[in-house]
Amino acid sequence: MTHTLNADLHCHSVVSDGTLTPEQLAARAKANGVQLWALTDHDEIGGQHRAMAAARAEGMAYLTGVEISVTFADTTVHIVGLGFDPDDAALAQGLAATRGGRGERAREMADQLAQVGIHGAYEGALKFVGNPELISRTHFARFLVETGVCKDTPEVFRRFLTEGKPGFVPHRWATLGNAVRWITQAGGMAVIAHPARYKFGATVEYALFSEFKQHGGRGVEVVTGSHTPAEYPVYADMALEFGLAASRGSDFHSPDESHTDLGTLPPLPGQLTPVWSLLADRIVTP
Ligand code: AMP
Ligand code: MN
Ligand code: MN
Ligand code: MN
Repeated sequence: MTHTLNADLHCHSVVSDGTLTPEQLAARAKANGVQLWALTDHDEIGGQHRAMAAARAEGMAYLTGVEISVTFADTTVHIVGLGFDPDDAALAQGLAATRGGRGERAREMADQLAQVGIHGAYEGALKFVGNPELISRTHFARFLVETGVCKDTPEVFRRFLTEGKPGFVPHRWATLGNAVRWITQAGGMAVIAHPARYKFGATVEYALFSEFKQHGGRGVEVVTGSHTPAEYPVYADMALEFGLAASRGSDFHSPDESHTDLGTLPPLPGQLTPVWSLLADRIVTP
């Protein structure tokens, strides 16, 4: 399969912090020309069978997907899994453990916001939650926009919910090794999500890529809605240097919030190996 295949291997539904159902996402992906799709909800694979069925109904090829929250060097790093068995018990168990602390964290986030005069944030965020096990910062962001505290999501993450700002509660997610192993042992491929987002210096970034490879990771997102076009060649070089396959995905969350729609990114740079060329036997065809 070629570089020009319109693959979108990163997006979110109401099963995590997106606003569309898996079925609505499948229809939107199809309408936008996506030929190979993956739903990658945060720490949750509860939407995989729905997404697979919806892709089939739309006549679109599908790869199973997930985006696992990991703590690496005291920073939250996201690892995407693609092409795993959606019924793998160890993966499901690892993800359930990773989701575990979210409820308590959300209450602490709300307590912090109350201290700066923003009341009712827990209940307010909960109104936007589709999956009670997956209350996230995105749901708080929607509450802060709805109540007029901020005009949009980017403003929320500039003023709140991030390190040093009200509403930020540090959290210990999965380890890098566990996340990669859960995915790999379920037959899938682990991919570093949007590496430019972490703002690591060269040394820590090198450590992330090296350790990821040592644990069995095989891919990195190069063309993603979470990178600027200037960052594509930087991570294309990293993919080549570390011998990783390259992935492409919008990271679409919502028609009202996401600047990159499903299926609208440029193709991968030509010299890279697309992740889908190594996952041919894992692709579910309609
Ligand atoms: P959580 O998993 O609860 O820490 O929430 C992380 C989610 O918050 C990410 O997956 C994004 O959807 C959202 N998010 C984090 N930082 C930003 C940002 N700067 N702008 C917009 N959304 C963000
Ligand atoms: Mn998200
Ligand atoms: Mn992410
Ligand atoms: Mn994402």
